[in-house]
Amino acid sequence: MAPPEGARRPCPVPRWRRRPRSVIAGEAEPSGSPPDRRLAPAAPRPPLRSHGNGRGAGAAVGPRRCRGMEPAGAPPQGCAPAREAEEPPGSPALPDEEPQGGQPAGSSPEEALAAGRERCRSRRGTGPQGPPGRAARGRGRRTPGRRGGEEGVRAGRRPRVTVDSSKAKTSLEALKISLRQLRWREFPFGRRLPCDIYWHGVSFHDNDIFSGQVNKFPGMTEMVRKITLSRAVRTMQDLFPLEYNFYPRSWILPEEFPLFVDEVRVMKDSDPSWKPTFIVKPDGGCQGDGIYLIKDPSDIRLTGNIQSRPAVVQEYICKPLLVDKLKFDIRLYVLLKSLEPLEIYIAKDGLSRFCTEPYQEPTLKNLHQVFMHLTNYSLNIHSGNFIHSDNANTGSKRTFSSILCRLSSRGADVKKLWSDIISLVIKTIIALTPELKVYYQSDIPAGKPGPTCFQILGFDILLMKNLKPMLLEVNANPSMRIEHEQELSPGVFENVPSPVDEEVKVAVIRDTLRLVDPQKKKRKDIQCQTLDLVSEAKEEVLEAGQEQDGGRGPEPGLPSLCLKQVFPKYAKQFSHLRLVDRVAALFIRFLGVKGTTKLGPTGFRTFIRNCKLSNSNFSMAAVDILYIDITRRWNSMGMEHRESGMCLQAFVEAFFCLAQKKYKSLPLHEQVASLIEFCEDHLAALDEKRVRRSAAVPGQAEGLHLTPAPHPPLLHRTATAGKCTDYRSHRY
Ligand code: ADP
Repeated sequence: MAPPEGARRPCPVPRWRRRPRSVIAGEAEPSGSPPDRRLAPAAPRPPLRSHGNGRGAGAAVGPRRCRGMEPAGAPPQGCAPAREAEEPPGSPALPDEEPQGGQPAGSSPEEALAAGRERCRSRRGTGPQGPPGRAARGRGRRTPGRRGGEEGVRAGRRPRVTVDSSKAKTSLEALKISLRQLRWREFPFGRRLPCDIYWHGVSFHDNDIFSGQVNKFPGMTEMVRKITLSRAVRTMQDLFPLEYNFYPRSWILPEEFPLFVDEVRVMKDSDPSWKPTFIVKPDGGCQGDGIYLIKDPSDIRLTGNIQSRPAVVQEYICKPLLVDKLKFDIRLYVLLKSLEPLEIYIAKDGLSRFCTEPYQEPTLKNLHQVFMHLTNYSLNIHSGNFIHSDNANTGSKRTFSSILCRLSSRGADVKKLWSDIISLVIKTIIALTPELKVYYQSDIPAGKPGPTCFQILGFDILLMKNLKPMLLEVNANPSMRIEHEQELSPGVFENVPSPVDEEVKVAVIRDTLRLVDPQKKKRKDIQCQTLDLVSEAKEEVLEAGQEQDGGRGPEPGLPSLCLKQVFPKYAKQFSHLRLVDRVAALFIRFLGVKGTTKLGPTGFRTFIRNCKLSNSNFSMAAVDILYIDITRRWNSMGMEHRESGMCLQAFVEAFFCLAQKKYKSLPLHEQVASLIEFCEDHLAALDEKRVRRSAAVPGQAEGLHLTPAPHPPLLHRTATAGKCTDYRSHRY
């Protein structure tokens, strides 16, 4: 997923010296400049870059990376990508810098708008708590590191949180600033002793970690690939079509090409005025890589590429909301703090990335114009029209709050927009969690030593003209760079600080760390133990106090959190959607040997037996056939085959089939909910029986093991195979 590290021309001045003090948050002109104070557009420049890659300067980005799509004007050729979408591997560690302050981003999600308004009105002054950067800077100058840990404890001070940043890659600079603001201890080259937190740049597996916390979940990178995400959302669309209409209609290629052709034909027949456009996105691509638009499934670019590169083809949103006549998308940062229990936070501010050519609805003539249709920063930075933003309200990359401010001044209902976005984020994560849990138990089996995980995700959202937010994609490694490339002279690029990026990203990292702070958890645990000793009445008082400050306590010198909890806060409204989560819990229970992600035939049979799903109408032979049929189909879909057996998605499909068989007349989600309850009841009864039985036999009271009973080999296929109705026929 991670794009290649772009070649850069080394700059004679060390990077840490190049940061002008005027852009240090807290000192800089932050977001308060009036909205009309736009930067003069950069003089059109050829998108050239010196590479030494054999192609010479002038290699193009657009066509090389987006076959078939060309920017208007001279097409650039073969240059290294600038980044916004994802974190590339292999970035060098940076030298220590002067500590810098971050910008608080509003004070509550609903207040993002207020924050934006504030920016519109006046330049930011010292906030109520003073500029965080300054406080952090003052403290950062001391060299107290040596007195952390035990020495700190002996001296009566709290030991400082330790963070291993040796694998942080391109998020290193923003991480360093955050750590200085928090006065935590950084270990840039790793540490012999365990650290409290490990900051990985790419994935959970960047390092072997057995304790503490890691900023990546196992399996997340796989889960947010275009095909996997589309499948996960599709499953939810099958169950709750209206609730999941924030994701454009998509087909997975190559296997769904015939379905794509058929469905488009049927829709065109039923509505001859429908003139759709489709966007084709290669699986695993990022930064606009290989993306192109087509008007018809018969387009040669599609038919010619189908077999060679798996992709998602998606309905193109033709009427996006425009600002300054330009299409833009939103990058929102979301913290998945915990999978079980599910905890989600959303950053109050995000980034808006702008196209650089005025938007026109797609026609055969403009279909190829990258700068008109694709909002990727990595593409548009190569347009002569790209404007580097020196404040939050202008240029080709702005804060989302500045857009909200603008929309609000036009009378838009931004409160509703925010609540739609929150709902989109929660629903998307609900679609992802079932499979994430399977990966989690496989990499960190319960009962074995292992770290806990959290992760910052980048949600890319497009607003339609009617302000409906649509999900474009989720990034497991959103870029946390706080600088951008600027061309000093033709072909010579330099990294310069980007105040807009710094304002948003440093706050997200710093506040993520504040939320996962292990010291706070320890203090909370100690408080809980103490509470056991005090009277019930006192306990209630203390708990009420904790509720009020979110259990966080005051943090002098730091701004209020830029991340707002949305789950479990709004859990009630979404609990009915968590059906696949419960199906995944059944799947995990029958996986048997810990550490696998696929269910064997014996596990599947045990599931059927224990849940009492087989009867005279559904024999064990039919069960075996169902298993073979569905497993074979899923395994032939070009997914990875390290393990044999039935993956979660295949199990979900089998489960839906069984639900349809058993509860014929209900809508699909009710069929599935009924079968889940049926299974859960049987398993609870079974567990109870076992507990009673083992309590009766001395020495066996502990350790409920679900050892599947030995079964005869799978029977041969019979005529009963494939008798399940395809639940997917409910799709449209
Ligand atoms: P990548 O990971 O390569 O950036 P995206 O799915 O984010 O792929 O798509 C790239 C860009 O294409 C988006 O930033 C957006 O501007 C545009 N885009 C993607 N999907 C759609 C769509 N369904 N309708 C309209 N524009 C889209």
